[in-house]
Amino acid sequence: MIVEGAIVDVDGARPAYVRFQRGRIVEVGQPGTDSRRGKDKKVQGIVTPRPVNSHTHLGDAAAAQDPPRAPVSEIVGPGGLKFRRLAALSADQKTQAMRSALERMVGEGVAAVVDFREEGVAGVEQLRNAAHDLPIEVRILGRPLRRPVEAGELNRLLQVAEGIGVSSAREENSLTRTQIAERAHRSGKWFALHASEEVRESPDAYLLPKPDLLVHLTKASFDDLGAVAKARIPVAVCLRSNALFGRGPDLSEFARAGIRLLIGSDNAMLNAPSVFRETEFAYLSGRLLHHPVDAAYLARAAFVEPWLWLDEPGRARVAPGMTGAPLVLRLPPDDPAYQVVTRATEQLIVPTGAE
Ligand SMILES: [Zn+2]
Repeated sequence: MIVEGAIVDVDGARPAYVRFQRGRIVEVGQPGTDSRRGKDKKVQGIVTPRPVNSHTHLGDAAAAQDPPRAPVSEIVGPGGLKFRRLAALSADQKTQAMRSALERMVGEGVAAVVDFREEGVAGVEQLRNAAHDLPIEVRILGRPLRRPVEAGELNRLLQVAEGIGVSSAREENSLTRTQIAERAHRSGKWFALHASEEVRESPDAYLLPKPDLLVHLTKASFDDLGAVAKARIPVAVCLRSNALFGRGPDLSEFARAGIRLLIGSDNAMLNAPSVFRETEFAYLSGRLLHHPVDAAYLARAAFVEPWLWLDEPGRARVAPGMTGAPLVLRLPPDDPAYQVVTRATEQLIVPTGAE
């Protein structure tokens, strides 16, 4: 099969053809110059690396209901509505709901998800069970339950999870964050947290101890964004989640500050775990709020930057020898970054034979 149209990957967007053989890329070049002209089945489309959902809380998928109008901390913060709803559900119900959420992402071609999993070691194990045998990599950032932090619980968590994800610097004191970050880094694992979501926090509060990933920065000033960019810490933004609480961060400022952007769908209780919906909304809300953001920046956040963060650059470039399969979307090749950001749907995915 030959896909003729465009590529959107780590090298940007460009016209191209991509030839597949048994699901693998064997040739890439300028449209109309393929070596087997006329012999292979040809489809028009855009080829990208697989999308990554870089921030979720899949654990609350079972608690999805129209959220009441209340501050974010009362809905999903520690002790909030979400935790009260979850407490009323069985482990089985939660695992089933997480599996459905993962299956939905698989349908969209999402190859990896980075999840903040609350509820301690048991929470991490539930998500592992939910993901069993599904073709999606689940990178779990667990959360210890005990405060003050207890070494035994933290160590057990670091054995089963890829790292620790905490609520925020406002909700976890500096001693807790330092203990968690040090222990996680000593085990070669990640430490991540939410920052400046509901109110602005000082960068010192969330950059020390140094995290591997920040989430939101909805209320960050341009100087704050500059400090994060300088520290080379990627930021996962979740614009549909922010919108539910009346907030619309200016991603054009993130781009101008040089932030390495990732995109996530946040709480499965608040929004469907769809990367495609997330990129479309991010693009449209920029226009609505008069701070348009480049589609190329958003495409990079969904399809490229997460692979670099996950230290898998071989999955960010569409080329022969690419690690894993790319995503092929039956979309016209004009302005390809805009096409994939605003128009991608599950129904437009073209099977490559690798599935
Ligand atoms: Zn979150």
